Amino acid sequence: MLMGKEKACRKCRMVVEEEEKCPNCGESNFTTFWRGYVVIVDPENSEIAKKLGTTRPGKFALRLSR
Ligand SMILES: [Zn+2]
Repeated sequence: MLMGKEKACRKCRMVVEEEEKCPNCGESNFTTFWRGYVVIVDPENSEIAKKLGTTRPGKFALRLSR
C-alpha cells in the first residue's frame, strides 16, 4: 500500500490525496507526476491564486510532468 500518495488535478492543479473528484473544479483527472507546490491560504488576496484561477484555499502543484 502506498502511503500519502498525493495527486494533482490536471485541470486546476489542486493537490489531494484521497479524493476521487477534485474539490476545487470537480474534475476526476489526476496525475501523480507533479513537482513543487504552493499553499494558498487566502485566495482572494493572493496573486498566485489568481494566476491559477482558484477561489479555494489549498495546496496547488506548480508543475505537472504528464
Ligand atoms: Zn481541479
